[in-house]
Amino acid sequence: MSEGLSQTRCCVVGGGPAGMMLGLLLARAGAAVTVLEKHGDFLRDFRGDTVHPSTLAILDELGLRAGFDALPQHRVEHLDAIVGGRPQPIVDFRGLHPYGYLALVPQWNFLDLLAREGQRHPSFDLRMRHCATDLLREQGRVAGVRVNGPDDAYDLRADLVVACDGRHSTLREAAGLVARDYGAPMDVLWFRLPRKDSDPQDTFGIVDRGHMMVLLNRDDYWQVAYLVPKGSDAALRAQPVQVLRDGVAELAAFLADRKDAIAGWDAVSTLTVKIDRLPRWHLPGLLLLGDAAHAMSPIGGVGINLAIQDAVAAANRLAGPLRAGAPIDETLLAQVQQRREFPVRVVQRVQMLMQRRLISSVLEQRGEPPRVPALLRWLLGFRAVRHVPARLFGYGLRREYVACGPARDA
Ligand SMILES: Cc1cc2nc3c(=O)[nH]c(=O)nc-3n(C[C@H](O)[C@H](O)[C@H](O)COP(=O)(O)OP(=O)(O)OC[C@H]3O[C@@H](n4cnc5c(N)ncnc54)[C@H](O)[C@@H]3O)c2cc1C
Repeated sequence: MSEGLSQTRCCVVGGGPAGMMLGLLLARAGAAVTVLEKHGDFLRDFRGDTVHPSTLAILDELGLRAGFDALPQHRVEHLDAIVGGRPQPIVDFRGLHPYGYLALVPQWNFLDLLAREGQRHPSFDLRMRHCATDLLREQGRVAGVRVNGPDDAYDLRADLVVACDGRHSTLREAAGLVARDYGAPMDVLWFRLPRKDSDPQDTFGIVDRGHMMVLLNRDDYWQVAYLVPKGSDAALRAQPVQVLRDGVAELAAFLADRKDAIAGWDAVSTLTVKIDRLPRWHLPGLLLLGDAAHAMSPIGGVGINLAIQDAVAAANRLAGPLRAGAPIDETLLAQVQQRREFPVRVVQRVQMLMQRRLISSVLEQRGEPPRVPALLRWLLGFRAVRHVPARLFGYGLRREYVACGPARDA
């Protein structure tokens, strides 16, 4: 054994939103949990920022709102796009209850908050720079994971392993589970540009002649998500980076004066977008949650929030038996999938529809600037209509409430 114990009740693999929330909830309920995260910190360039009302409500239930509110953030009450040069309101959170906004918070700050909170509980064991490489199996069930730690490799035995290791899940592959791939027409170029006080304040999207980008306000810089057709990355990178600089300036004239801040292709990450879903999220001794079970497209900025709701649903069903030392029957794991699959399925369907109807047609478009159809433009003029996507993405179809109390109440 390299560090800590070689046996735990529940081993959560992956310290993203799903894994950190699950680890916190289980430890808070008094169940022994070890969270393995392969990186040394949460501070990585790519971490989506959107914290939706559903997550704000969960943080409130956990008494974490004051800590959360103290994190650097922007509150977004409505989302607009500039389509073919014309401003177009799309989503309006105002008037939704109890939270009428979404918060843009650097995800590393958010995960640090969950880690700090977890560490207040004695049964929480977070191991950074510990990478799960394989599953241990015994008598037809998953019995733990093989781990590469900072010093050496070791086996960590567990009564339950929860794979929260994201879209490229190692454990999903080790388990031989194959997700159904629903495809995505785009990938995302992810880079930063300096921000000036005179720039627009809001986070917004811009759509024009074959190009699309989203600008996230991170105070002193814009985090830019620039959409490109899937598979076009290599051809794009074979050209001078000036092509990208010019593309950005063409979409947003106010960025033309600083487009050279994209120093070269090394400053630009390519993020692969995919939508997929496992038909079965569990095996005896193994449960998969978040993107490991259902990779989400960035559309609606909702993946983090669904991952967190998965974690709450899992903790509600598993914390009691884990704390009590009871066997973790696979039917309990199936209940988690039953609870969560429907809302995930609906959101993925909407994402696929938007990919087909909006993103594909924009990325394939040349010549004429795109237009929002007159009927849709008219409808979007009503705040009640703009509430529909706000409610779907903000709260989801099935809200999760924390039902596993702190250990002292148990
Ligand atoms: C381009 C793009 C932009 C997006 N933007 C947003 C957004 O703004 N808002 C939003 O809500 N969603 C966004 N999404 C979706 C969102 O990123 C995911 O749905 C969400 O991160 C899923 O959370 P998770 O905890 O399941 O997995 P992840 O966030 O992927 O976390 C997995 C964690 O597991 C760790 N890990 C992986 N393998 C191992 C291993 N073998 N051992 C130990 N640790 C491991 C990783 O380091 C990581 O910390 C975006 C997706 C894409 C592709």
